[in-house]
Amino acid sequence: MAENLNLFTSTQNVIKEALTKLGYTDEMYELLKEPLRMMTVRIPVKMDDGSVKIFTGYRAQHNDAPGPTKGGVRFHPEVNEEEVKALSMWMTLKAGIVDLPYGGGKGGVVCDPRQLSMREIENISRGYVRAISQIVGPTKDIPAPDVYTNSQIMAWMMDEYSRIREFDSPGFITGKPLALGGSHGREKATAQGVTICIHEAAKKRNIDIKGARVIVQGFGNAGSFLAKFVHDAGAKVVGISDAYGGLYDPDGLDIDYLLDRRDSFGTITTLFENTITNQQLLEMDCDILVPAAISNQITAENAHNIKASIVVEAANGPTTFEATKILSERGILLVPDVLASSGGVTVSYFEWVQNNQGYYWTEEEVNKKLHDNLIKAFNNIYEVAQTRGVNMRLAAYMVGVRRAAEASKFRGWV
Ligand code: GLU
Repeated sequence: MAENLNLFTSTQNVIKEALTKLGYTDEMYELLKEPLRMMTVRIPVKMDDGSVKIFTGYRAQHNDAPGPTKGGVRFHPEVNEEEVKALSMWMTLKAGIVDLPYGGGKGGVVCDPRQLSMREIENISRGYVRAISQIVGPTKDIPAPDVYTNSQIMAWMMDEYSRIREFDSPGFITGKPLALGGSHGREKATAQGVTICIHEAAKKRNIDIKGARVIVQGFGNAGSFLAKFVHDAGAKVVGISDAYGGLYDPDGLDIDYLLDRRDSFGTITTLFENTITNQQLLEMDCDILVPAAISNQITAENAHNIKASIVVEAANGPTTFEATKILSERGILLVPDVLASSGGVTVSYFEWVQNNQGYYWTEEEVNKKLHDNLIKAFNNIYEVAQTRGVNMRLAAYMVGVRRAAEASKFRGWV
């Protein structure tokens, strides 16, 4: 039978398994198996050539029992309703894992920013906020950056929301530039979080990070910074890739050079001739593999060929659920996305707290709090996996879903 690559249904299956293991009823699963709200919008946008194009956008709010919903907005040609729904459910899990007072939300616009001018991207960003303004807000649902969106886009969205509401609303969105109430450390937070998980996982497997061979698939916001962090910690980054291909050198790559030359979408391999494919890169020799690009990269097809002894998921959904089983049967330690990539939303929470109190922290304070939160979350999930005899993905779902389930129960919803 063909492997089920549908992230939404496989997410539902693991949520069901986690709730059953925790002793919740089927009613709880019925509540949590889908977002509470899903809004689809059509956004008319003036293009540079004078024409008008209509873009489709989504915002999903999975569960707001623990607090406002929270999660990024992606601009990508492959954004679709099912993906946005699954991603909003993962945000509930991430918030539960790092113990934030949020439920999960997620949004997206079907577009390819690589083919658009800055002005067109601004028009889409503002149009998206106008279209969803009724269901979002600093105490309702708080957006943030995700694939191909950045702090400038957050700034336009914040400005549009503040204009609609007629008051300044920095807490409406996170991932803003520092000058508009952004937080120190937010830009590199996802990469920091992944790096903390890499260090903790290496400790569990007695791998010295100094000299460990690391492959990072993806050279965007998460991938490029984490390659730099592990490189600075003494690891040997032997492979990296972007959307067009991969680079591999068993002696280690010059990460500073690659960082310097990449473009704002993380493209770098087009400057080289000796490239390999993304699929080849995943199967190359290494100790730690970090998929930091897109979903469905490690599947039942290639899971048997992965050489790494640790896989840390920096992207959302890079390993299919079938492949997760294969990797755990092979004794590979898999640190799941909902844990490894939770650094971004953790510092988004810090940003929102700073906006609410109007008092701002130093980068050291932010990083220390992030570090403490993630180490606690990692060890908690590792412990659950060991004591319950389950893989770290199921353990992470068990820890992550509990807060939304408890909050829904206390509110009397189930
Ligand atoms: N988009 C990021 C994620 O998937 C960050 C979300 C946020 O900061 O709210 O975790």
